[in-house]
Formats: sequence, C-alpha cells, structure tokens
Amino acid sequence: MAKPRPAKRILDSYTIKGSNKTIKPGDCVLMRQPDSSKPPYVARVESIEAGSRGSNVKVRVRWYYRPEESIGGRRQFHGAKEVFLSDHYDVQSADTIEGKCFVHSFKNYTKLDAVGNEDYFCRFEYKSATGSFIPDRIAVFCKCEMPYNPDDLMIQCEGCSDWYHPACIDMTVEEAKKLEHFFCQSCSSQNEKKTEDSHSASRQLESKVESKRRRR
Ligand SMILES: [Zn+2]
Ligand SMILES: [Zn+2]
Repeated sequence: MAKPRPAKRILDSYTIKGSNKTIKPGDCVLMRQPDSSKPPYVARVESIEAGSRGSNVKVRVRWYYRPEESIGGRRQFHGAKEVFLSDHYDVQSADTIEGKCFVHSFKNYTKLDAVGNEDYFCRFEYKSATGSFIPDRIAVFCKCEMPYNPDDLMIQCEGCSDWYHPACIDMTVEEAKKLEHFFCQSCSSQNEKKTEDSHSASRQLESKVESKRRRR
C-alpha cells in the first residue's frame, strides 16, 4: 500500500529570515545569487508553501530578468532599474529571499520623487526561450529615434511635443535644465515664420497709425 504523501501547507505569508518583513503572494522580492558579487535576482512570489510541520518553506516565483540576463543584452534605452517580467517560473527555498522590492509600472516609476534601492520598473514581458518581448514595439523619441530611458534627461518641444536628448540637439544637460521654453529645430523654424508674419502685421498697423497722425 502506498504511503500517503506528506501534506504540503499553503501559506498566506512568510516572514523574511533575519527581518520583520512579511511577504505575500503577489509581492516582489530580491533573491540571493549563488555568486554574491552579482546583484540579487528579482522575482514575483506566486505562492508560498511549507512542509507538513511548517518547516522547509518554498516559494514559487516568476522571474524578472535584468536586461543583461536577456538574450539581446542591455541596450542603451534600458534603465538601470529596468526588469522584464519573464515566462520563467521556479520553485526556490524561501531562505534565499533577502528582501522585498517594488516593481513599478513605467509610468509610476517616472513619477517617483526618489528612486530607492528597492524600486524597479517593468514595461516589457519577456519570453525566455525566444528572447522576444511583449510589446515588441514601443514609442521612440528624439532625432535618434530611441525609446525613453527614464535615467536620461529629455526635454519636450512645446511645438510638436516630441522629447529630445540634450546631447542630440547640441546642448549640455545643465543648459537643458535651465531652459524655460524649448522648441525643436523644425518647430522653431516654423515659429520664426510666424513671428515674422506678426512683425510685418504690426509694422503695417504702426504705419497706418502714423499716417493717420500725419493727416491731422
Ligand atoms: Zn536622442
Ligand atoms: Zn518640435
């Protein structure tokens, strides 16, 4: 007769060893790498389970990949705190969890007043087998036609609303920060035209007023 398998217990939460921090399914965590000189792995906890006596806690995780862990590697537009939600799941010992972290949406990340050690962001899902991304296209900006890297300062043109890297428009970051108004090259050439038109219009008006005065 087959022995009954030891029952596993599904846990609602787990307190990280050596801390008072509690994690729940859905939370994001940092997990120790075997090579401690490398940055920790980032994962989302799917479920937590323990052996029948509540020991040997394991977490089922869905890995976030850092750009350098992806097949295509890190690209210029990838942020320092960017991670990709992968389709790669694993079961790990809860002992390897070193802390909690937060993986923000791209939009929320750009709105953070300060980026802490535990703040990350995700704008792509990643298929670990093929190295492909969802979405496979995102908006590009500037003359260089690059996706937005939130680590790099960009300035917005008040004419066309496109965003530009200071370096791509021959400006230093300091100069760009001081700008109160910015029009890109193509918008400012259109703008000049408009100002010229209004100048000539006002000149005409002045001459009309003058001629009226002269008549008196
Ligand atoms: Zn650029
Ligand atoms: Zn413009």
